[in-house]
Amino acid sequence: MIKIQNLHKSYGNTAILKGIDVEVKDGEVLAIIGPSGSGKSTLLRCLNFLEKAEKGIIEIDGAKVNVEQYTKADVVQLRSKTGMVFQNYNLFKNKNALHNVSEPLRLTKKMPKKQAEQVAYDLLAEVGLKGKELNYPVALSGGQQQRVGIARALALNPYVVLFDEPTSSLDPELVEEVLNVMKDVMKQGRTMIVVTHEMEFAKEVADRVIFMADGYIVEQGTPEELFTNP
Ligand code: ADP
Ligand code: ADP
Repeated sequence: MIKIQNLHKSYGNTAILKGIDVEVKDGEVLAIIGPSGSGKSTLLRCLNFLEKAEKGIIEIDGAKVNVEQYTKADVVQLRSKTGMVFQNYNLFKNKNALHNVSEPLRLTKKMPKKQAEQVAYDLLAEVGLKGKELNYPVALSGGQQQRVGIARALALNPYVVLFDEPTSSLDPELVEEVLNVMKDVMKQGRTMIVVTHEMEFAKEVADRVIFMADGYIVEQGTPEELFTNP
């Protein structure tokens, strides 16, 4: 499971996260919605230490870190539990699809190069990009690039995949193909946290929805609980 306790994050004197408590069960899909600037992306980035929170406890699948007191090994262990999908894909422009996906395996030296390539081939096939392995990002559509981003996030077989507005940069006609790949990831039973503006995704796919505003969680519940008018 994932357990976040009393997480606080500021930029300068501005508090962005003001005491966030969240629990996510194994295999659960959590959607985070809320107005722009409410801290959704910051919350995701604090979970894998892309940003460092000032206070709080983050526990992911048994890897527990007090953000005020931790070792580098704690952070490495925590990061190994997460894969991240970014709004703007964050692919290496000078690497082809295959090398983008195999990069996390290469960096962590998890397996020999040949085996890492095979894993990357298989992941690209899973996201529907068979035959595109040698394409560079510039030769892929936005939807295809984001599917490479999802394959890369899965490369280390993480406990949870963190999606930060994964479809917000896409032309409307490309959103569906990315949402479909996300549904496939969900069917594998993978735990997912998705910051999204796609209300249909939050309503139909998420097990639970959190509504954030101004650095707080102001409401949470099942989609039925949150989206049914009283
Ligand atoms: P959301 O994802 O809900 O739109 P963010 O987490 O991206 O919100 O941002 C929350 C607030 O933190 C915004 O006011 C934003 O301007 C601010 N912020 C985000 N990143 C930084 C940063 N690196 N430095 C200073 N302020 C930041
Ligand atoms: P440092 O330079 O402090 O050791 P890095 O930011 O380079 O830390 O990351 C260490 C490891 O964590 C690398 O193997 C990197 O690939 C991995 N990593 C970093 N950010 C992420 C992320 N968002 N998702 C998955 N793995 C990540």
